[in-house]
Amino acid sequence: MADAIAVLNAGSSSFKFSLFALDGEDLAVVARGQAEGLNTSPRFVARDGAGATLDEKAWGEGVKLGHDGALDHLVGFLRERLAGHRLVGVGHRVVHGGTEYSAPVRVDASIVAALEKYVPLAPLHQPHNLAPIRALLQRLPQLPQVACFDTAFHRTMPPVAQAFALPREITGRGVLRYGFHGLSYEYVASVLPRFDAGAARGRVVVAHLGNGSSMCAIADGRSVASTMGFTAADGLPMGTRSGSLDPGVVLYLMDELRMDARAIEKLIYQQSGLLGVSGISGDMRALERSDAPGAKAAIDLYAYRIGRELGSLVAALGGIDALVFTAGIGENSASLRQRVCGDAAWLGLAPDVQANARGGPCISTPESRVRAWVIPTNEELMIARHTRRTLAGGSG
Ligand code: ADP
Repeated sequence: MADAIAVLNAGSSSFKFSLFALDGEDLAVVARGQAEGLNTSPRFVARDGAGATLDEKAWGEGVKLGHDGALDHLVGFLRERLAGHRLVGVGHRVVHGGTEYSAPVRVDASIVAALEKYVPLAPLHQPHNLAPIRALLQRLPQLPQVACFDTAFHRTMPPVAQAFALPREITGRGVLRYGFHGLSYEYVASVLPRFDAGAARGRVVVAHLGNGSSMCAIADGRSVASTMGFTAADGLPMGTRSGSLDPGVVLYLMDELRMDARAIEKLIYQQSGLLGVSGISGDMRALERSDAPGAKAAIDLYAYRIGRELGSLVAALGGIDALVFTAGIGENSASLRQRVCGDAAWLGLAPDVQANARGGPCISTPESRVRAWVIPTNEELMIARHTRRTLAGGSG
C-alpha cells in the first residue's frame, strides 16, 4: 500500500485539495479537486492525475454545507475511493506565520492557538486556513498535519525591507512587510537551477501574476524583497485588489466619502484592480478579448506597475540576472509578458518574440544580458514536499 500526502488550501467559501502518492523521491498526483460555494450552492469534484473525474457531487442551491461538511465528504472520498493509499499526513497552506514561523511546522492544538494570533493580520484568510486543521484534529487526532506558510520564504528579507517608517511601538506590534506567495516563490526557486543555474545562484526577480499578483527579489535562492507588505493587498494591482495606495487615499475615503473599515476593505480587496479600472472584469482573459477602452486602461496600468516594481526590486538586488514569469497570467499571457520584457529593455533584457509566443521556457534571446523565463508554479507540490520532510523530522 502506497503512502500518500493530502494538501489542503482552504479559502472563505471553498477549498482546493490534492493527494500525492509517495514513490521513492517522487510525489505523484493521485487526485486533485475542489469544493466550492460551501455556503450557497456546494459542489465537490475530484479528478485523477490525468483529469478523469473520480467523484462529483452538488448539494443544490441554498444548502449551507460549510467547511466541516465538505471536509467530511473529502475524508469519505479519500477513504472509499483511494483505498490503495495510506494517508500519512496532511499539509495545509496557511497564509500567515508572523515573525515566528520561518519554516513549516507540525501542528497540534497549541500551535493552532499560536497561529490564531495572526488572524488580525490576515482576517480574510487565516481563519479559513485554520478551520480545517482544527476540524481534522478533532476528527482524526492521530493524523499528522503540517502548516506551510505563505510568509515563511520571506523571513530572510533584511530588516530594512521589512520595516515601515512608523513609530517603533507600532512596528513592535508586528506591523511589518511580510510578503506573501512564498510557497510559489520557493517552488520556483527550487526548480530554477534546472533552467538557469547561474541565475539561481545570482539575482532574480520572479513575477507571480495571477488573480493575486506580486513580485519577489531573490538573491542566491533567498527572498530579499517583495512587493507585498503587511497584507496581500499591497504592491501590484490584482484581479480585484488595488495594490499599493497612498495612505492618504484611505483617509480621504473615510473623511469625505464616509466609508468605514469594512466598506474600504470591500473596495480595496473586491472592487478594485483590473475589475475596478476596467469596469468589465478582473479576469485577464476577458480583458484581453475585449476592445473596450476600460480593458486597455486596466492592462496598461497593470503592465506599468509591474515595470515600476521591477525597477524597485532590481535596485534592492543591485542588478538582475533573470526575470521569471509564473502563475495564471505570467504562464499564459504572451502579450503581457512581451510588454513587460519590452519595457525592461533598459535593463538589458532582449525578448525572443517567437519563444515567448510559444510559452518558453526561455523567452529571451541568446544575446540578452538578462534572461527571461516562463516557469509554471506548483504550490501544492511545494506543500507536499514540506509535509513529507517535516514529518520525516527534517526542517521542512
Ligand atoms: P489564483 O491567484 O486564483 O491562483 P491564477 O494563478 O489561476 O489565479 O491566475 C488567474 C488569472 O490568470 C486570471 O486573470 C486569468 O484570466 C489569467 N489567465 C489564465 N489563462 C490565461 C490566458 N490563456 N491568457 C491570459 N490570462 C490568463
